[in-house]
Amino acid sequence: MQCPSCQNTDSRVLESRAADGGRSVRRRRECLNCDFRFTTYERVETIPISVLKSNGSRETFNRSKLLHGLTLACQKTNIPTAKLTSIVDELELGLQQNNLREISSSEIGEMVLDQLGNLSEVAYIRFASVHREFQGISDFVKALKTINSNKNQLASVR
Ligand SMILES: [Zn+2]
Repeated sequence: MQCPSCQNTDSRVLESRAADGGRSVRRRRECLNCDFRFTTYERVETIPISVLKSNGSRETFNRSKLLHGLTLACQKTNIPTAKLTSIVDELELGLQQNNLREISSSEIGEMVLDQLGNLSEVAYIRFASVHREFQGISDFVKALKTINSNKNQLASVR
C-alpha cells in the first residue's frame, strides 16, 4: 500500500480492527520510509445485482431504497430499525452468496414478505399492498388469509 506522504510502498500494520459491522477490516499502517501513519480499509468486493421490474425495465439493486420501503411499511409498528436493516442485510448477502446477477422485483418483495409475516400483520399488509399493487379490498382479504394460513401451518408443526 503506497504511503500518501512519500509514495513508498512498504508499510507495517500497527493495528487491524473489524469495521462496518464486520463487513470490512480497518488497518492502521505506518510507512517504513517516513513513519507517516495512515488508515486502509479492506472489504469484500460485491457484484452489482440488477433488478427486473414488473414493467420490464431494469435497475441496480439499491439497498437504501428497499430499506426506505420497509421503513414506511413499518411506521408505528414497534419493529426496531435494526431489525429492518438486518432483513435487508440478509437479503443482500443471500443474493451475493448465490452469485445472482439478476432477480425480479417480485421475488425480492416475496422474500421481504416472508420476513414481515412473522413480525407484524400491519407491516405485512402495507408492504404487500405497495409491492403487489393491490387494486381493491379483496386483495387485502386474500393477503390476510395467506398470513393466517401460514401461521396455522406453523402452529400445526409445533
Ligand atoms: Zn512514507
